[in-house]
Amino acid sequence: MAQMITERRDIDFVLYEQLGIEGILKAPKYKGMNRKMFDLVVNEARNLAVKEIQPTYVEGDREGVTFDNGTVKVPECFHRAFDLFREGEWIALTKDPDRGGQGLPHVIAQAVTEYLVGANYAFLTYSILANGAGKMIELAGTEQQKRLFLKNLYTGKWGGTMVLTEPEAGSDVGNLTTTAAPNEDGAYSITGSKIFITNGEQDLTENIIHPVLARIEGAPKGTKGISLFLVPKIWVNDDGSLGEPNDVVCTGIEEKMGIHASPTCSLTFGGKGQCRGMLLGEENQGMKIMFHMMNEVRLEVGTQGFTQAAAAYMHALDYARERRQGRDLAAGKNPDAPRAPIIQHPDVRRMLLWMKAHVDGMRSLTYWVAHTFDRIEGAEDPKERERLDHFVSLLTPVVKAYCSERGFDVCVQAMQVYGGYGYTRDYPVEQMARDAKIASIYEGTDGIQAMDLLGRKLGLNDGAAFMDLLKEMNQSVALARERPELADMADRVDQGIQRLGETALHIGKTARSAKFKTAFAHALPFLEVMGDMILAWMHLWRAGLAAPELAKMIGDTTDPKERARIIAKKKEAAYYDGLIKTAAFFINTILPVTFGKMEAIRIGESAAVDIDDKSFGG
Ligand SMILES: Cc1cc2nc3c(=O)[nH]c(=O)nc-3n(C[C@H](O)[C@H](O)[C@H](O)COP(=O)(O)OP(=O)(O)OC[C@H]3O[C@@H](n4cnc5c(N)ncnc54)[C@H](O)[C@@H]3O)c2cc1C
Repeated sequence: MAQMITERRDIDFVLYEQLGIEGILKAPKYKGMNRKMFDLVVNEARNLAVKEIQPTYVEGDREGVTFDNGTVKVPECFHRAFDLFREGEWIALTKDPDRGGQGLPHVIAQAVTEYLVGANYAFLTYSILANGAGKMIELAGTEQQKRLFLKNLYTGKWGGTMVLTEPEAGSDVGNLTTTAAPNEDGAYSITGSKIFITNGEQDLTENIIHPVLARIEGAPKGTKGISLFLVPKIWVNDDGSLGEPNDVVCTGIEEKMGIHASPTCSLTFGGKGQCRGMLLGEENQGMKIMFHMMNEVRLEVGTQGFTQAAAAYMHALDYARERRQGRDLAAGKNPDAPRAPIIQHPDVRRMLLWMKAHVDGMRSLTYWVAHTFDRIEGAEDPKERERLDHFVSLLTPVVKAYCSERGFDVCVQAMQVYGGYGYTRDYPVEQMARDAKIASIYEGTDGIQAMDLLGRKLGLNDGAAFMDLLKEMNQSVALARERPELADMADRVDQGIQRLGETALHIGKTARSAKFKTAFAHALPFLEVMGDMILAWMHLWRAGLAAPELAKMIGDTTDPKERARIIAKKKEAAYYDGLIKTAAFFINTILPVTFGKMEAIRIGESAAVDIDDKSFGG
């Protein structure tokens, strides 16, 4: 039976053949590390995922979380898995070892994340948020705050959250009404109600640290007047010991479509007038700190979408090989022909390759961005550091929104491969689709990400970051052109790069004109075409590496039968041939549709903006 979890070969290809990550070992930060060590970490993550975390996936969903009079219980099976997770120190892989982290490269953490999140999305929310809260303290905390909180968050002793949303302040965070008033002892009194807080209350950890956005009385309106406070569920004394329970009450949890094993909580701060918080960073700098941290978390949310897709693909592939239905098309109407596994049917093969093309492309994209973080940390030249930093900024909304949209689409496609069984609870793909959907909504909806891309990121550094990205794409085109078997694909990607440049110029100009609303109505389609083009580039890059390897194995034979015979016999030849065929599928099947989408953006239909509210009907 096929593995139901990403194959190591797929991860190793990206790490070592595509990105050549061993190059970063020269950086002083990674002194003493080597490939053997990286391999060990990824293997251990895989083992933990398969043996301990994946078995909690369906059970966690069925049992769900329960709310009783202010307390929340997580699924019973999570306790053992979380203990092992904590003991294995899997929470803060890239963070400073002196603060409870592992000091590993981001790209290795990305490979680990693929296994762990792919095994159980809801389970991983607990550690992702502890990590995010810690990151904010690292960025803006005092030495005392770092000493009090970081190790406990990074080792999973305490949980963390991210507390922004209120009923009237969702996408519009600046509209929040939670207040903070300074006390004589230096702490602040926090008063307000928040909703939709992931893991806002749970019984996995002895304490929970809530980073809460609130407005200090008299501060400016909007996002400029927002400050950030650390509000521990149980107060933390100056010597690190636990004090009195804080005035933070969970008043309920949401009934929702997916991630049933992660509570989405309503929290009241200061209902009895006794909620204490510590200011994190300076007054009115809350959004700045939050946004800095959000870049990392948004990439993680994109990764959540991608990893669900990867897991759903592996399940669908396994099912398509096992399930027999109908006969091979070539058998005609012969009633004696054997029943075929559905993987033999062209339409099922189309679905599978569509899924694989997106999964492989998203893997390369997300690992490349993670590796860019490593390159930033290792760069000695400040200009190069800035250039790479701009890449991350430009690509953050694309990774978040594109991977969450396509991640969900791939899960839905997996359901289709299962037929009726995909719609039932007999197999986990329906759960994957339910779980994956949230990625397009939280951490700033995909619509908001698209506005960020068009309104801010596209023009970053006068458009230099975007032009730099096109330059990187052109390099892969030039390399691919050296191989005749890839020339057609290279031409199509080249055409795509030019069209993307023109489309960006057009929509960017429109966004600065009187028709700016029309431009923003096309912002998400633009983000999607940019994502498609990046994936086409990734595939060309991958094919450019695979082609010479395949040629070494096949020799100079041009006979298709002989080629097919060698590919069927040699696993590695089949692997590289699969990369080239997947690239061909994406570039020659999906990209032409993307060209059509670019044309729609260029036409710039304004109906969505012009239509009268009443004309929508209803
Ligand atoms: C399961 C779950 C977990 C969550 N976890 C957390 C958490 O841990 N912490 C936290 O603080 N929040 C959390 N959230 C809240 C989440 O971040 C918000 O739901 C999200 O930001 C959208 O806000 P909203 O629900 O108020 O929708 P709204 O802001 O009302 O948006 C509704 C629609 O309008 C669009 N829209 C809104 N404003 C604009 C605009 N200016 N331009 C264009 N389109 C716009 C949106 O894109 C969306 O499609 C969670 C939500 C859920 C469902």
